[in-house]
Amino acid sequence: MLTCKKTYFDIPFAHRQYLHDGHCAYVHGHNWDISVTFACSQTDENGFVVDFGKVKFIKKWIDENLDHACVFSESDPLAKKLIEAAPEAWNARFVKECSCEGLARHFFGVFDALVRENTNGRAWVVRVSVSEDKKNTACYGE
Ligand SMILES: [Zn+2]
Repeated sequence: MLTCKKTYFDIPFAHRQYLHDGHCAYVHGHNWDISVTFACSQTDENGFVVDFGKVKFIKKWIDENLDHACVFSESDPLAKKLIEAAPEAWNARFVKECSCEGLARHFFGVFDALVRENTNGRAWVVRVSVSEDKKNTACYGE
């Protein structure tokens, strides 16, 4: 299978692992890297899986949804209380699970749908990797 991969570096956002028995339970931030691997049924007229210059919709989604955001797990029992106490302090987002693994799975769903829509189904996403501070990485693929 022919694939290509694009990586978005140093996206600053926060999260908290409310069930963690250590410091990950506190709201904290990372500079995140997100790699998206694309595949296609057939390459485009240039021989590309996707034209890297034409997937700006992914960067746009990242900028609009993650830059300086705080991503909470939907089940976080404190999230609503924190946000209501000072709504102006939060650019809050919710996903099913805000672990590295949960984020990789969530981004996979978002980016796969965007790529299919923007390429009329010619290309799709096979893998998303999410790294915290270039050290810890989780991947989700189908
Ligand atoms: Zn973390």
